[in-house]
Amino acid sequence: MGKYGNRPREDKATLTEPRCPFCRELFDRPYTVSTALGFFTGGRCLCGAIYVFDASNKNLGEAFMDALSYACAEDWDVAMSLEPDKDYKECSVTYNSHTHSVSNKRSDLSAREKAGNMIFVRLVKEQDQV
Ligand SMILES: [Zn+2]
Repeated sequence: MGKYGNRPREDKATLTEPRCPFCRELFDRPYTVSTALGFFTGGRCLCGAIYVFDASNKNLGEAFMDALSYACAEDWDVAMSLEPDKDYKECSVTYNSHTHSVSNKRSDLSAREKAGNMIFVRLVKEQDQV
């Protein structure tokens, strides 16, 4: 039936592994990343994506800006000038720090958890813009 015809073709087995949504590489446990303004909990994937984990699930907007500025070598002016989808891609996932896995059981999650607690940001490089 057409209603469910657009489900993403994701392998459930791989989705529970902590993989970068951009390149599908396994990412490391979030760690404390020091920045000029402070620090955030996250890391950097091999593909260049910056991820930030908001354990409190309260400051994801702030966490996102931390990740975006970090991706821009902490240049806030550059970070603020970027346009979503054009200059960078973002993708949020629901990460479980206890099991170091990414949940794909969306229906089991609360509305808040569905929004994700970890954001991946990857700048769009010129070679990506075909
Ligand atoms: Zn990646």
